[in-house]
Amino acid sequence: MISIAIDGPAGAGKSTVAKAVAEELGIFYLDTGAMYRTVALKAIRGGISTTDREKLSSLVNDIDMKIAFEGKEQHMILDGEDVTELIRSPEISIGASNVSAIPEVRIKMTELQRKFASENNVVMEGRDIGTHVLPGATIKIFLVASAEKRAERRYKQLLEKGEKNISLEEITKEIEYRDKNDSSREFAPLLKADDAIEIDTTDLTVYQVANKIMNYVKQKVEI
Ligand code: C5P
Repeated sequence: MISIAIDGPAGAGKSTVAKAVAEELGIFYLDTGAMYRTVALKAIRGGISTTDREKLSSLVNDIDMKIAFEGKEQHMILDGEDVTELIRSPEISIGASNVSAIPEVRIKMTELQRKFASENNVVMEGRDIGTHVLPGATIKIFLVASAEKRAERRYKQLLEKGEKNISLEEITKEIEYRDKNDSSREFAPLLKADDAIEIDTTDLTVYQVANKIMNYVKQKVEI
């Protein structure tokens, strides 16, 4: 099985690049952040604080969450409802960062992610894929970019999705909060794996980053 781990902070360009690489290779792309986001949505809908470890630990044990694919496009299904678009709001971003610091939540998500990679060739995107979820991944990439650029990208993305009640300032704050939270948590924090290749995407296009990654892939696997 081929597994390509793409990690990095919010707005480093992981999703677009991971999608492009997966498409080029004709393999699956798994956005693991969407899983944490779905857990956060479930908690918020149930009136549970996203930092309540005890309640979240039992919530993840019987959550009705499915990852469905339309072609190669990932959809998140919660209690039978397609929540793919709903989980993109800034409120859910913060909630996802909170629930992802809870070890019991991470253990459960990691289990599902490893199972997926054992059954499919995949480009898996997240924060701890190279360090924790798939330490034996075929290739590990760690994307970084300046904080300004990352906030700008997230802001544009949300505007394109039709979000109206957001400001660049609010998004910058959200990113700073998540950076701090994701990097400082004790269990599987956001960290570059020793054997990961770091790419600074600040001044690069998606095409240029995907191309670089494809060159590394070609050196490692026969395609
Ligand atoms: O990637 P995305 O921004 O959608 O992720 C939302 C949040 O989920 C991140 O801020 C991070 O806290 C968490 N996450 C994680 N581990 C992953 C993927 C996402 O902790 N593998």
